[in-house]
Amino acid sequence: MGEITAVVLGVMQDGGLPHAGCLCRRCQAAFAGEGVDYAACLALVDGRRSPAGVWLLDATPDIKYQLHLLAGALGEHPSRPGRLRPPDGLLLTHGHMGHTAGLVHLGPEAMAVRKLPVYAPAGLVQVLQDTALWRPLVQLLDLRPLVAFQPLALAPGLTVTPIPVPHRDEWQAGTVAYRVQGPRRSLLYLPDIDAWAQWPAARDTLAGVDVALVDGSFYSPAELGGRPPVAHPLVPETLALCAGLPGRVLLTHFNHTNPLLDEGDPGRGVVQAAGVGLAYTGQTFQL
Ligand SMILES: [Zn+2]
Ligand SMILES: [Zn+2]
Ligand SMILES: [Zn+2]
Repeated sequence: MGEITAVVLGVMQDGGLPHAGCLCRRCQAAFAGEGVDYAACLALVDGRRSPAGVWLLDATPDIKYQLHLLAGALGEHPSRPGRLRPPDGLLLTHGHMGHTAGLVHLGPEAMAVRKLPVYAPAGLVQVLQDTALWRPLVQLLDLRPLVAFQPLALAPGLTVTPIPVPHRDEWQAGTVAYRVQGPRRSLLYLPDIDAWAQWPAARDTLAGVDVALVDGSFYSPAELGGRPPVAHPLVPETLALCAGLPGRVLLTHFNHTNPLLDEGDPGRGVVQAAGVGLAYTGQTFQL
């Protein structure tokens, strides 16, 4: 490939598709094998070196499948024949299960990584270290706390900067979006946010990148069957925020209830008319 590529490895909300315990039409189809999709995840692949540099943004419950999607870039493990080489590092946005639970597959019972670099907001590093259940796993990781707004160089010409965003925070550990700067293009990865109005820098931050992958969890409150609204912006609010932005905006992190998942849904026309797209698993962006 010879370049740096961002690869979408999943576009669903934390629970994925199918969603545990759900009997909705989409989940029933997915349980039957149709339309299965993974929790939101993005890979950065540096194809300028061999083997490629590979980093994952978030560790989802679907990580074993998502690593398999990257088998070509990861290649074989240098010292364990017949096994995949682990990625060069992970970067976590926040503590919710769709973003951290995949770490369990790196532990002694499964992939048994050795000192795998895992970058996360300092508060989240603390939570991971304090989780007794995960102690054997955490010993296999090289946990590295990130400083907000401080760019982290992953490779020459490739930096990732954590940007704090407001999001349900049970551990006071914070949530970040990642701004990825490649040699030629920039990308914002922002799978979860409570409300655009709670983040004054929203529009400027989105205007400052070539591609933004943002929270598209819910289209309307009707999806929750009368339950109180969850803390995510609704898609129409996101479309309003993004009107006239210079770069490309794509929605991701879809809840299994989101009608945009249906090909014929009229909401897709609304999204398209607003100049916004829907991210999909397997989509790539040259950086
Ligand atoms: Zn999430
Ligand atoms: Zn469902
Ligand atoms: Zn979350």
